[in-house]
Amino acid sequence: MSSSHNSEGSRPFRAGERVLLVDEKDRRYLVKLRPGADFQTHSGVIDHDAVIGLEEGSTITARRKESTGRKVLAVRPTLSDLVVKMPRGAQVIYPKDLAAILLAADLFPGAKVLEAGVGSGALSMAALRAGCNVVGYELREDFAERARANVTDLLGEQSGYDVQIRDVYDGIDERGLDRVLLDLPEPWRAVPHVATALRPGGILLSYLPTINQTAELRRVLEEFPFALAETTEVLVRSWHVTRRSVRPDHRMVAHTGFLTTARRSTNAFGARADEEREDPGVANGLG
Ligand code: SAH
Repeated sequence: MSSSHNSEGSRPFRAGERVLLVDEKDRRYLVKLRPGADFQTHSGVIDHDAVIGLEEGSTITARRKESTGRKVLAVRPTLSDLVVKMPRGAQVIYPKDLAAILLAADLFPGAKVLEAGVGSGALSMAALRAGCNVVGYELREDFAERARANVTDLLGEQSGYDVQIRDVYDGIDERGLDRVLLDLPEPWRAVPHVATALRPGGILLSYLPTINQTAELRRVLEEFPFALAETTEVLVRSWHVTRRSVRPDHRMVAHTGFLTTARRSTNAFGARADEEREDPGVANGLG
């Protein structure tokens, strides 16, 4: 069973599981605990045996030849930690976007989800953690392998995960899908297949790096039975907080990608009617 799906209580760290070590300068290391092994950090050497048996949230003093090392905090990694630290072939979707996708695509336990392309499996992990059953289409064998390995390694054996080597532009075999998640360069080429594979009311979600691609997707969505199309981007500003100084951090990630969602309708009323719809700001009395 995956450690990520069960409450840990205050169970101590055991050999074979992953631990996130964080030093005083917030440098983070993801380590798989093995008896007798050691791990080199900027703060000194950590013996795995010093972590095994400890309670989560403990601090360990790193070992140094000439001086005492610094303190390092040991916690179990969150899904965000895993996504940022895991080995990747393709670019992954970052935590701020994964968080938004969970609700934008309304991912729910037991949902029948098709995902293409799978890449390194970051989005797969978020969907699986939300309880979805995921069929993945991926062009490249090496990425498919990497995604399967990342998912099993980080979430444990997943029965509801099936990655197939195939091109989603050529067609989708599944029917009655609740959700389709697309992270590939030309999602509009998949739209005709998605229109058939998605059940009415189902949600298509696409993640795209440029607005040109997004505009093309929106144009093609209007030609098929989809309604309620929406495009958003997620800007997250982190803050620097100390006793003396509380302010936004100087740097933030300015751009990753645009999220577009649309719902499968039974007829193509979408486009025209949408244009005539009231501006949501006006409808909410905010206009
Ligand atoms: N969402 C993934 C990253 C996907 S990267 C994550 O979070 O980790 C985009 C992937 O789409 C690449 O692996 C690429 O090989 C795959 N891809 C591109 N075109 C495709 C197609 N037509 N069918 C299936 N997969 C495709």
